[in-house]
Amino acid sequence: MIIMERGATSEQIQQVLNEVSRYGVRAEISNNDSTIVIELVGDEKKIPVSAVASLPGVKAAIRIETPYKLISREYSRYVGNSLENLKIKVGNVVLGNGNPVYIAGPCAIESETQIMKIAEGVKQAGAHILRGGVFKPRSSVHSFQGLGGIDWKKAEEALKWLRRAGEQYELPVVTEVRGEQQVDLIAEYVDILQIGSRNMYDQDLLVAVARKKKPVLLKRHFGASVEEFLSFAEYIAAENNKNIILCERGIVPVGKGKNFTRYMLDLGSVPAIKKETYLPIIVDPSHAMGRSDLIFNMSCAAIAAGANGLMIESHYNPEEALVDGSQAITPEELGEIIRACNRIYETITPKSNLN
Ligand code: PEP
Ligand code: MN
Repeated sequence: MIIMERGATSEQIQQVLNEVSRYGVRAEISNNDSTIVIELVGDEKKIPVSAVASLPGVKAAIRIETPYKLISREYSRYVGNSLENLKIKVGNVVLGNGNPVYIAGPCAIESETQIMKIAEGVKQAGAHILRGGVFKPRSSVHSFQGLGGIDWKKAEEALKWLRRAGEQYELPVVTEVRGEQQVDLIAEYVDILQIGSRNMYDQDLLVAVARKKKPVLLKRHFGASVEEFLSFAEYIAAENNKNIILCERGIVPVGKGKNFTRYMLDLGSVPAIKKETYLPIIVDPSHAMGRSDLIFNMSCAAIAAGANGLMIESHYNPEEALVDGSQAITPEELGEIIRACNRIYETITPKSNLN
């Protein structure tokens, strides 16, 4: 990372860019409070830091070794305040400003009436953002793949319903992008692009969604370490898109015999990740538990652990849901969770920080 002196000329900046480009490293220029910072994407180790630091107009050249330096607090220390959390604005909703943000909706969109009715219910319950799957990742090709599995026309129709439901109830909307070929279509209709757990490692998909310059909701792979999770978030940041919402959704459980939950919700990752990065992190207790009867407790625990929000699958009649009905809760239950979580948030937050 290279920090230029205030008042560095464009010739001086160009000279630094020429110098670093000789080492096969990509440079992204960012302007923080009128200080020009040149962020380096690539293998910085080859760059002679002291030679770069002595170029005219350069205030400091710093080598940061973490694989997720662009999103790290360590890095942000040099460009601003490392204690400051990134606030991501989506419509009228702000993620990361302290107050928990609640994302809710069905696992899969099934019809216009279904998404409209659920949007109305979750809005009333206090949710801020509407979710709904169109291209569903499924373990079996014989299961319902979401309306996107029928054909492209049906997918676009479902995206229009989602958009319409969001507009009607003033809820920004999010859906999963399962493959690169879906990026353009989905980006036309949604406010946030979701990368599902199974695709956390798909670098090309991460780059493609990042380039849409919309917020990206990145779910942790169920087999990924926290370091890997952050390292793959870095692929999005490296495209100059730092509007990344991390999502903890559980990892593969251990041991023999019945596990009682679908995954093991790693809530310890939440405060640990918040120490490492300024990005907001939310928790999805639905996919972690796989059981509607455990969502209340784990939602409360997630907020107590410091999560910036929750993503919860909701349906007015979970038994009727085509996908993941066993973990879906009703809008009424969602309302109870939101009320309890808000009380927990107020209890654990110093009075001076409450907005
Ligand atoms: C989802 O949120 O719809 C989903 C499929 O979750 P995950 O990628 O965490 O399994
Ligand atoms: Mn689901």
